[in-house]
Amino acid sequence: MANRKRVLITGAAGFLGSHLCDRFIKEDFHVIAMDNLITGDLRNIEHLFKLENFEFYHHDVSKFVYVPGELHYILHFASPASPIDYLRIPIQTLKVGSLGTHNLLGLARGKKARVLIASTSEIYGDPTVNPQPEEYWGNVNPIGPRGVYDEAKRFQEAITMAYHTFHGLETRIVRIFNTYGPRMRLNDGRVLPAFIGQALRGESLTMFGNGSQTRSFCYVDDLIEGIYRLLFSDYALPVNIGNPDEITIREFGEEIIKLTGTDQKLISLPLPTDDPKQRRPDITKAKELLGWEPKVSRAEGLKITYDYFKSLPKTEIEHKDFTYFNKK
Ligand code: UDP
Repeated sequence: MANRKRVLITGAAGFLGSHLCDRFIKEDFHVIAMDNLITGDLRNIEHLFKLENFEFYHHDVSKFVYVPGELHYILHFASPASPIDYLRIPIQTLKVGSLGTHNLLGLARGKKARVLIASTSEIYGDPTVNPQPEEYWGNVNPIGPRGVYDEAKRFQEAITMAYHTFHGLETRIVRIFNTYGPRMRLNDGRVLPAFIGQALRGESLTMFGNGSQTRSFCYVDDLIEGIYRLLFSDYALPVNIGNPDEITIREFGEEIIKLTGTDQKLISLPLPTDDPKQRRPDITKAKELLGWEPKVSRAEGLKITYDYFKSLPKTEIEHKDFTYFNKK
């Protein structure tokens, strides 16, 4: 149909990007999906290729981005996002957050589109206040291993605000906290797929440090709803979207052992450099501005996610190669 609104989603073949594609298709948008497939996987969106209101560009947004025709919205979700990924491809991570964002802001300006940028709780670094409100400036080590991601995302917020202030561009910034659900990569190194993969293979669960560090896990459907509402709000400053239900990594490991019905043990491995000790979103703003709060409990969300991982081909579950290339 000619009068569908047109949205460009970058990182469309990734975990969050693919769920966003599904949501915008469901809302009857014309979805233009873009991904360079370094960490994304076409299987996440292959069910959409048959649709007339879906198209896919295999492109790296760190290079000049061109999309023919009208564009009403841009959602920039292209970026490695797990520590394993961004430690292995640090330069690409810096480029997609900086050059990639610059390209998309330029495109948005040319098309008079509204742009929503995926930022992250990592901009708070190893936070000294808990929970983290949007006003907190963070505690980031710029030259540590996580600096490539954290600083790229901080730059991304700065340039987005500059385009908003100086060019009057309509911009939105979502700060995404730990999110999980179907289509996460089993081998992306993040704690949830790592623990579930280990349980499914009958291995010990690798807890880093003594497991006293905390995270707060949000189910993907809740996150997507928050992003959708933010895009259509009129608020240009950053908004935290995440689930404030905080848990230690040790307790989380114990929950996974219970969920999977295995009698695996937790073993302790060295804590990675600059691993944040605590993380929990203050979601007062999201509640007040968007009327949003998470609905899916960890018990419900973990069950759905476990069933998804269990349904993967056995070869994939056995495949433990923690490389960022998920295809050759
Ligand atoms: N973690 C762990 N075992 C693993 C992978 C991660 O104990 O096999 C810990 C990690 O040290 C961190 C937390 O789990 O404290 C969450 O790590 P993840 O990589 O999922 O994301 P982060 O929140 O650190 O970006």
